[in-house]
Amino acid sequence: MKDTIIKKFSVRELDAQLFTPFTISSGSHKSLENAVFTLEAAGGVKGYGEAAIATHITGETRERTVKNLRRAGALLAGRDAANYLGAMCLLEAELDDNRAALAAAQMAVLDLAARLQGISLWKLFGARSPELKTDITVVIGGADAAYTFTKKMRADGFHIFKVKTGSDMDEDFRRLEAVHKAAPASAIYLDANCAYGAKEAEKFINDLARRGIRPEVLEQPVPKDDIDGLAYLTRKLAMPVCADESAYSLDDVFNLIRRKAVSAVNIKLTKLGFLRAREVWALARASGIKLMMGEMLESELASAAAAHFAGGLGGFDFIDLDTPFFIKDSGMRGGGFLSKDGVYSLDRVKAGIGVVPGDAK
Ligand SMILES: [Mg+2]
Repeated sequence: MKDTIIKKFSVRELDAQLFTPFTISSGSHKSLENAVFTLEAAGGVKGYGEAAIATHITGETRERTVKNLRRAGALLAGRDAANYLGAMCLLEAELDDNRAALAAAQMAVLDLAARLQGISLWKLFGARSPELKTDITVVIGGADAAYTFTKKMRADGFHIFKVKTGSDMDEDFRRLEAVHKAAPASAIYLDANCAYGAKEAEKFINDLARRGIRPEVLEQPVPKDDIDGLAYLTRKLAMPVCADESAYSLDDVFNLIRRKAVSAVNIKLTKLGFLRAREVWALARASGIKLMMGEMLESELASAAAAHFAGGLGGFDFIDLDTPFFIKDSGMRGGGFLSKDGVYSLDRVKAGIGVVPGDAK
């Protein structure tokens, strides 16, 4: 049997505690409850993928994701990992209704293919930018906690703060003022996760400007189906308006661009899988739309895979790959190329994604 033929697979749950609950306007993660998918080729080389399950955003459950990953493993067994595009295409239709599983299965295929070639994953995507610096998220919570967190992360070297808003407007103002006070020269990104109406969002941004706070980007201010609301804000506001929840498929993004509804799109592998994420990238680049690389709550494995994707393709304006900083001990090894101040140095990765589960042999 050829060394590149996929021989075995396994699926296991990945659990870890968080330093602080990851709270956004639509819900909260109290711990990491993901899954790891492993493929093994006949020659013994392995590839790893992580499914990030965000039930409160996507409705996907871990139970179904694990089941679908077992199905994906059975489908992939016997196929040649050298034909990684063929394997990824096969997964597209099969896992279309479970994107967390799709992303994880494609991630493992790509990790395996890159390792078999002896190159790091970002090179497979084009090797454009070896370094990416992520923002750091200030979750929904009290102003004092936001101030302390921002001070600490600023001291660690972060200088872009993505502030979650949309729970209570007065509290949002206080949290944003606390972040601005703790890191006055730093950039602020805003993410409301669908919480506002369009007029409400406009007023919020204008009130913030009166307080001397001007975010660099406003992400998903209105509910996902409110395309008119997005278009209104894109016309009215000076900063880019970025679709996240509204951009769940290639069709969504095509429609958003056609209707001139947004000036930026947040690409997450967990929403789109790798192939369609690549198509969204190309469509956005061709249309002059800015790009954010984002993620769900993901350990070093899936976060690094997203960094390889963004660094390999290049052209991303906003990098939001910070969730490893919220996880106490994911058990992942090899993530040393992500520094304490949030820089992914992809040229330090020898093969594949460069991160493996701690129990991997
Ligand atoms: Mg978002």
